[in-house]
Amino acid sequence: MMPRSVLSRCARLTQQVPLESVRSTKHGVHRGMSSVTIPPPACMLRPLEVPFRYLFGPGPSNVPPRILAAGGRPIIGHMHSEMFGIMNDIKKGIQYAFQTSNNMTLAMSGSGHTAMECAVFNIVEPGESVLVAINGIWGERVAEIAERMGAKVHTLFKTPGGHFTNAEIEQALAKHKPVLFFLTHGESSAGLVHPMDGVGDICHKYNCLLLVDSVASLGAAPLLMDQQNIDILYTGSQKALNAPPGTAPVSFSERACHKMFNRKTKPVSYLLDMTHLSNYWGNDGKPERIYHHTGPVSGFFALRESLAILAEMGLENSWSHHTEIAEYLWKGLEDLGLKLFIKDKDLRLPSVTTIAIPEGYDWKELLAYIMKHHRIEFTGGLGPSVGMVLRIGLMGYNCNKANAAMALAALEDALKQCRKSKA
Ligand code: PMP
Repeated sequence: MMPRSVLSRCARLTQQVPLESVRSTKHGVHRGMSSVTIPPPACMLRPLEVPFRYLFGPGPSNVPPRILAAGGRPIIGHMHSEMFGIMNDIKKGIQYAFQTSNNMTLAMSGSGHTAMECAVFNIVEPGESVLVAINGIWGERVAEIAERMGAKVHTLFKTPGGHFTNAEIEQALAKHKPVLFFLTHGESSAGLVHPMDGVGDICHKYNCLLLVDSVASLGAAPLLMDQQNIDILYTGSQKALNAPPGTAPVSFSERACHKMFNRKTKPVSYLLDMTHLSNYWGNDGKPERIYHHTGPVSGFFALRESLAILAEMGLENSWSHHTEIAEYLWKGLEDLGLKLFIKDKDLRLPSVTTIAIPEGYDWKELLAYIMKHHRIEFTGGLGPSVGMVLRIGLMGYNCNKANAAMALAALEDALKQCRKSKA
């Protein structure tokens, strides 16, 4: 017996379809008049409109013409040999950007969150212990992802802007004996770059794998996957790499591969199962690649171009360039009488600068004014830093003195126009 809700839906549909117009022919059903009852929406009959914006928030950043052009090339099949060649190039580009010789290096079909979930789902089995460092939104997200897949989640906590000493990390590892420890390298919600030296060694001392998020920091702040003993590292395409959002480089060490390919249970996600993805990326040593999902072909073209630009510039040049422009921005902000949220210069993320919300101002009004009058996107805080900070991101292609000066001029104008009180 059909449920009542289905029956009433069928009745409604029958009323809408002009059945008398449908007659059977030898080749099937012929409709004398349209059987379509929902008309084409008016918006779909208008051309696409996309305004120009200066994307000086924490991402996505503006995409340079060279990368847009690469993404606009005619697509080929996702399983064509030429596509596999391009994927092999991407793998090499990621190995350079991450400074790793890991074979298990690839790009996820999806945004940074896809790589985050892929790492947790493949490494951790339900019931296993995970330790997550939370000093902003990204730790919160990973803790929730791990909890949803049935891990025993333990957290190390600091308010936004705080960081963890190696002694604090070691104490928590000794106490909770996790299989995985998560740390965000570039905490974009707080504007903090976390010290990485020694963390990997401590994790390995406790037989724990180290998972690091570099979505906001890759290419902008020094990070050396192999030398710093990071087991799983991921990033996003839309920050300092300047590709459109939608692909996410990730790499797994030998140790990480050993854990994830010797599981007792299958990962909860079919799409993110590394046994399939490693085959799709030609990383499993098998002679044949078998269809798993259709990768974002245009996104991979764009990602390849963005990795090529980073390789041409050189990682060290990219790091020092981001620092130089960030220092120019920081000085300009202080000259405007603003306070930087991260006091210690060495802990400031060069790609995303956080400013303490100036007293006497409504931060939402400042942002709206700057968007309306200067076509510039800055953003407020995210998660636990909402209401604490304004964020300015100058990443990759957007990272230059002219843009920093434009950002400062817009902020100076907004500070003059939006003052609420003489606090
Ligand atoms: N980690 C960090 C540090 C980020 O800044 C972001 C994006 N703002 C993410 C993870 C999530 O990436 P995505 O939005 O591409 O899923």
